[in-house]
Amino acid sequence: MPTSISATPEVISAQEHERIVIRNALVLTMDCDNPNEVESTSQVLLGAQKECDVVIESGVINAISPNAGSNQSGGRVIQGRGCVVMPGLIDSHTHPIFSGSRATETVLKAQGLSYEEVAARGGGIVVSMRATRAASVNELKTSYLQRAKQALARGVVAWEAKTGYGFAASPEMHGLDNYIQALIDALPQFASLAQKYAQIKSVLPLAVDIFLERNYFTREQADRWLSAALQHGLDVHIHADEFSRSGGCEAAIALAQRVEQTQPRVRSKGRVLSVDHLQYATDHDLVKLQSLGVVPVVLPLTSFFSNLAYVEGRKLRSAGVRAAIASDFNPGTAPLNSLWFAAFLALVKGGFAVSEVLNGVTRHAASAMGIEASYGVLQVGRPARLMMFEGTCPEDFFASPMGDHLKMVMV
Ligand SMILES: [Zn+2]
Repeated sequence: MPTSISATPEVISAQEHERIVIRNALVLTMDCDNPNEVESTSQVLLGAQKECDVVIESGVINAISPNAGSNQSGGRVIQGRGCVVMPGLIDSHTHPIFSGSRATETVLKAQGLSYEEVAARGGGIVVSMRATRAASVNELKTSYLQRAKQALARGVVAWEAKTGYGFAASPEMHGLDNYIQALIDALPQFASLAQKYAQIKSVLPLAVDIFLERNYFTREQADRWLSAALQHGLDVHIHADEFSRSGGCEAAIALAQRVEQTQPRVRSKGRVLSVDHLQYATDHDLVKLQSLGVVPVVLPLTSFFSNLAYVEGRKLRSAGVRAAIASDFNPGTAPLNSLWFAAFLALVKGGFAVSEVLNGVTRHAASAMGIEASYGVLQVGRPARLMMFEGTCPEDFFASPMGDHLKMVMV
């Protein structure tokens, strides 16, 4: 049982030619593929190994097995007894590039107003757009880096950071259709940026997204934008079916089917990666998405802060779906930079099983971002992106809702 609280977890950046050995920990590799993910904490589903060592050489995992580190001399030794080691968390849905506060909105919602009512009173996303556009690039960069460091210290080793608040407001673009067209015209630039960034290790692949919802973008606009992006080799996501059944899942299914027809089997670029939110998705939608390799992403913090229904683990389980869990961290509807708390809510409010939660914030989240080849599981030969918290069983992840018992993060 966790006994103490580490004020700030140590963040270790594994160096070239450095050997690090973690000894005698309970290691959850997440490296298993069992289609029957129904039991609550089957150790098998988490790839659990007791009294296990993890040997890291030059930042790469060299061995994961009991006593693998006992004959190693030199290097740094980390005592893992009484601790759980697992892959670092992956947050596949965040909006961390913003300026300004939307605390007024929180107060209005506390008085019973819905997100749509808040928006009708001039609140909501427009507030973030104005404040972000008014901020200098330097200001945005500084606050972004602070938020990224905060996430890292809370166990997140990779996240998808959505932009968007800074783009031109639609009135200036004479309506959303023209706005979409302007974005489509800029796609060659985005695609060449994506190629440039592909050379930089710390930058993950660029992707595009759209908020398909009544009073925001329409199905037709989403189709135009996402089809064009796919043609430019960019991966896509959709914010879908959050406040109503507005066609987001259907749009994703149609796009993914088209992608499959034009270029069957293994694609490395231009994929429909995920459909996010899903409060109003049907079982049929979920089954179809799963069969097309599109990852459903649930965002329990948004439900918590906006008094929306939680997507139920039971519903996903009965559809045979493996969902990712993400924070949706943003200044309005989820003003908390904590994937750990999102995971906690998925357990206590969404009724997800322990193995579903832990896979949902690591392995499935990596799939939702298209980075599953190098993130989300612990495997020999892969970079050591992991974390260690106090505990003796997988359930101890939930010993504190924000991960106060996290001791170490390695990247
Ligand atoms: Zn979002």
